[in-house]
Amino acid sequence: MLPKKLSAQINKNHPWAVNTLKKYLSIPSVSAQKRGTRESVRFLTGILRQCGLKVRVIKTKSGHPPVIYAEKTVNPRAKTILFYNHYDVQPAEPLELWTTPPFKAAIRNGKIFGRGASDNKGNLITRLNAIKSFHDAGLELPVNVKFVLEGEEEVGSRSLPLFMKKYRKMIAADMCIWELGFHDENGRPKLSLGCKGIIHTELTTRTTRTDLHSSLGIIVPNPAWRLAWALNSLKGADERIRIKGFYQHVRRLDRLDRKVVRQISFDEKKKLKELGLKKFVLGLKGKALIQRFYYQPALNINGLIGGYQGKGNKTVLPKEAAIKIDFRLVPNQNPTDILKKLRRHLDREGFKDIGIKDATGYPPARTPLNNQYVKLVAEAQTKIYGKRAMIEPLFAASGPMYLFTPLMPCFCEGVGHPASNIHAPDENIYLKDFLLGAKCIAEIMNKLGGSKI
Ligand SMILES: [Zn+2]
Repeated sequence: MLPKKLSAQINKNHPWAVNTLKKYLSIPSVSAQKRGTRESVRFLTGILRQCGLKVRVIKTKSGHPPVIYAEKTVNPRAKTILFYNHYDVQPAEPLELWTTPPFKAAIRNGKIFGRGASDNKGNLITRLNAIKSFHDAGLELPVNVKFVLEGEEEVGSRSLPLFMKKYRKMIAADMCIWELGFHDENGRPKLSLGCKGIIHTELTTRTTRTDLHSSLGIIVPNPAWRLAWALNSLKGADERIRIKGFYQHVRRLDRLDRKVVRQISFDEKKKLKELGLKKFVLGLKGKALIQRFYYQPALNINGLIGGYQGKGNKTVLPKEAAIKIDFRLVPNQNPTDILKKLRRHLDREGFKDIGIKDATGYPPARTPLNNQYVKLVAEAQTKIYGKRAMIEPLFAASGPMYLFTPLMPCFCEGVGHPASNIHAPDENIYLKDFLLGAKCIAEIMNKLGGSKI
């Protein structure tokens, strides 16, 4: 139970938190455009120190944003929470679709708007507000806290693997609260326990030295056809991926998985309407649909490139063609293994000419459903937000969580909502969630501090 004094202090600190978030949102920390790093580091080190934390700025490879590390140890024997956040954001373009400028926070209809509000600057400030409020109320923190703040999550966390290897001991903790988290459309808080892995790549093929007159297509192979046939060999209309061994490491659902699937609410009718869709793939519904969403890997086509793409007709036999694809992987699939299997598949099916270009990605990450702290975090969310927390086996997006889950359980808990527009124009969070988010973090700290686990 959150002490009254602490809850009141968090209310009292809310204007400070809103103001701090406004300043933080005004920093255009777009890693893809190499903007705002120095400003972010200066701003964050100041705020972290103001909240009583010891701060280190740790250099990474030259030209890359540093990792900011901060900690407060109250008692070496107390439990420790690690917070992972990133200070970079996605580019704000297209700018004309923003109601107010992306890097000038604006408050409308109970929401605060700005690039990074939900992913993930708002969450960081709720965490700091919780810590500051303990301090301001004259209460000792019930746990030790640590922060790892990186500056290149949105461009693939390039420096993080090395950082994690080098500072494994320094960041040791009992649990990690992940950068973001969401509520569903009815305000039910979600607790996500992992994330899918991803491989992005491009399949390419080239047949001739130059583009040709399409009349030659009767005797000269067409690279776009080559790709079409290759694609057809990868997945059929039954939606099953045909790469040999692709599903080999996919976990079977156990009793606990099935129990978790039952408590997930998903308004299919509403979603179908929102998407302008008649039915989901394979006509799936109910439990089968939820199981597929959380537990099955996917192969997605992102774009096809080749030949004439302009207005009107043009006959041409293109010299090359390419297709951008991504795989969404589930525990315990491994990107390197899947890429090897993809190569083997193409070779075996007669597509040695098709290259696999610029493959990058992350492995999946998973905190087991039976981890001892799942209940603790879910109870804190249920109590603070007043609605039963929904446990999700994983978060459908991807991130560098795989670097943390071998060391400690990771929990996605945050103040996003379904219309938060992360990575899109008019990104926002509800101010009411922003306040409750700080209380939820305080409640988790309190419970962990008193936990006998
Ligand atoms: Zn993020």
